[in-house]
Amino acid sequence: MDFLASVGIKRRAIRANIRGVVQGVGFRPFVYQLATQHGLCGWVCNTSGEVILEVEGERGNIEDFLQELQSSPPPCSHIEELSVEEIAPPGFEGFEIRQSKVILGEYQLISPDIATCNKCQEEILHPTDRRYRYPFTNCTNCGPRFTIIEDIPYDRPRTTMRDFVMCPDCQREYDDCSDRRFHAQPNACPVCGPQLSLLDDQGNNLASLDAISEAAHLLRRGYVVALKGLGGFLLACDALNEEVVKTLRRRKRRPHKPLAVMMEDIQEVKRHCSLCLKEKEALLSPQCPIILLRWKNSSTIPKLVAPNTHYLGVMLPYTPLHHLLLRDVKRPLVMTSGNLSEEPIAKDNDEACRKLSGIADYFLVHNRDIRTCFDDSVAQVELGKLQLVRRARGYAPYPLHLPFRSREVLGVGGDLKNTFCLLKDEYAFLSQHIGDMESVDSLAHLEDTLGLYRRLFRVKPEVIACDLHPDYTSTRCARRIAQEEGLPLVPVQHHHAHIVSCLTDNQEKGPVIGVAFDGTGYGSDGLIWGGEFMLSDLKGFQRLGHLQYLPLPGGDMAIRKPYRTAIGYLSYLGYDIDLPFLDGVDSQEISLIRKQVERGINCPLTSSIGRLFDAVSALLGIRGRATFEGQAASDLEMMAGNGKENTYPFSIVEDGEGRVIMVGELLGGIISDLRHGLPLSYISTRFHVTVALMISEMCQILRQETGINKVALSGGVFQNRLLLKKAVSGLETQGFAVFTAGQIPSNDGGISVGQAVIASLFRG
Ligand code: ZN
Ligand code: ZN
Ligand code: FE
Repeated sequence: MDFLASVGIKRRAIRANIRGVVQGVGFRPFVYQLATQHGLCGWVCNTSGEVILEVEGERGNIEDFLQELQSSPPPCSHIEELSVEEIAPPGFEGFEIRQSKVILGEYQLISPDIATCNKCQEEILHPTDRRYRYPFTNCTNCGPRFTIIEDIPYDRPRTTMRDFVMCPDCQREYDDCSDRRFHAQPNACPVCGPQLSLLDDQGNNLASLDAISEAAHLLRRGYVVALKGLGGFLLACDALNEEVVKTLRRRKRRPHKPLAVMMEDIQEVKRHCSLCLKEKEALLSPQCPIILLRWKNSSTIPKLVAPNTHYLGVMLPYTPLHHLLLRDVKRPLVMTSGNLSEEPIAKDNDEACRKLSGIADYFLVHNRDIRTCFDDSVAQVELGKLQLVRRARGYAPYPLHLPFRSREVLGVGGDLKNTFCLLKDEYAFLSQHIGDMESVDSLAHLEDTLGLYRRLFRVKPEVIACDLHPDYTSTRCARRIAQEEGLPLVPVQHHHAHIVSCLTDNQEKGPVIGVAFDGTGYGSDGLIWGGEFMLSDLKGFQRLGHLQYLPLPGGDMAIRKPYRTAIGYLSYLGYDIDLPFLDGVDSQEISLIRKQVERGINCPLTSSIGRLFDAVSALLGIRGRATFEGQAASDLEMMAGNGKENTYPFSIVEDGEGRVIMVGELLGGIISDLRHGLPLSYISTRFHVTVALMISEMCQILRQETGINKVALSGGVFQNRLLLKKAVSGLETQGFAVFTAGQIPSNDGGISVGQAVIASLFRG
């Protein structure tokens, strides 16, 4: 420090204020040890706003202390801001950790839950260790955080560990500054901490001596076991046993949607999937997300685990319970959220037994409460970076940085893959994945989690943002909050929110050419948008182009029945629909759909690119009926090869308001290829290449009009890895700077950030 160097006196003192993730990550013990090592006296204290410390000693030692503080902080901490001021030496003797202080209105960043560290892993596997096989082992470097916290500052009485009184051994560790568990709030051992029990599906305690090895035994025998984890219940079964996977799918009413698999270690992962360095790093990171990996043909995991895809969602054990269970069971386990399709994950023992009694055969539960529901995070490595598809455990509530300082704002998100987002100062607190807003439980989950975030981060929104869709459950929820609290409500167009979330993710302010490709979003003209090109910045947008409007027979019904979309599009564009894909579709239904389209009855118009993918998938006979959103499009992607096919024809016309991409010739070309018996993989590749070309051609036209050379790609359709790669390389070849999703999902899980940012800058 310059000011210290400039003064010649030896004995000095400083006061430092530190902001960032500095609570619950072993920061105070670290400061204590560092200060003692450098022969400094003083104190350190947690407040609800920051960590404050004062140290006194020789000048050089203070300098070294400050340098090391920044260069080697504890693994899970993150210093955002460090300010240092010189003070008159108070004459400290020794070093102490002072009691935490609550400061009204102040807040701190809170650590997400952290996967079990190596040292804790060693302990639970060491037969003479007092924590041998103890499934709730943790230390200052690992373990539950956000899922157990009820208020700040983060201390044991303000967590769900409050009911467990530490035994003398644990207390000694907790008090000993040289111990890894010095001030580890969830510290526990078999004597004093939470305990497991194994229940049958009637809730009877099986009183087993070793619940984990017994559960492993049941899993090997082909039963479905519900496990109480960090953020809720997970359903587990043997991933190599096709029968039990089938049973689980039937009971969970989830016929096709891919399931994730937990594997013991990297060696096991390599047996089933190919793995690049970035993917390996992500698997082993403290966040420990599910990574979508390339699935090897030689893998012995049955296709039924993730049908019709080249990717398998894989994660490593992230709690001591997982480590012990996976070692005992000696095979990969399917792990999926303990819920019925799309409902929030169950978190209480009673609730789980009630809701999951028809799904799980046994329950491995414990007596520590879960404060907040968390799903596992899902990510993929594409374009050389980690892209979060579902941002939850391990990431939330760690905030994203805004490219400006914001007033306090709430964005409630949309109805699919809901998340909410709170802005404060230079942070965006994006919530964990909440779920689809179809069920009453999801809304309750949203309201409960929102209450917690508002309390923890001391946010009192001045303005609330929601989707432009008047009938979204999330919109109604926002309206109610706005009314109750007398706040202005800002409805934000769905695709503008997508683009702004991508800009925020990239610390960009725009203006950019925003390309928002997704399934559904309410447009400013009341029609269903989803293939949009807009001039956009953080404040506003202008729609410059879009995919041609086409009729969606039956509206939302078409989402689960892509064959209806295909029939609608073909008859609207005047194509003969006597095609083989219609096998199995009732001829009466076909003529009904045709009439609907002719007369425009219950046929909302859509410019959605997601629906175009659906239609093509159905037209090719790949998938006419979907059991989850995006299934038809995903199956179409998986059908594609890697070749460089030529493109189908399409045209871009001017309609007075902007540019429109006409797809009549494209569909005509596909029909002709089909009639000529060309392979589906060829047609699918050709289609993908064509859509990528549409993007780059439209962007070139718009660059000429606007002079803007930056493009932001967002929307759920860009989870299509083939399309994303082709679109980015096409644009980069044309000299565009391209922004894509990373930390914020490109699907609807990211729109709350866009909503909040737009509303923050909105002055109405
Ligand atoms: Zn640990
Ligand atoms: Zn203990
Ligand atoms: Fe969307």
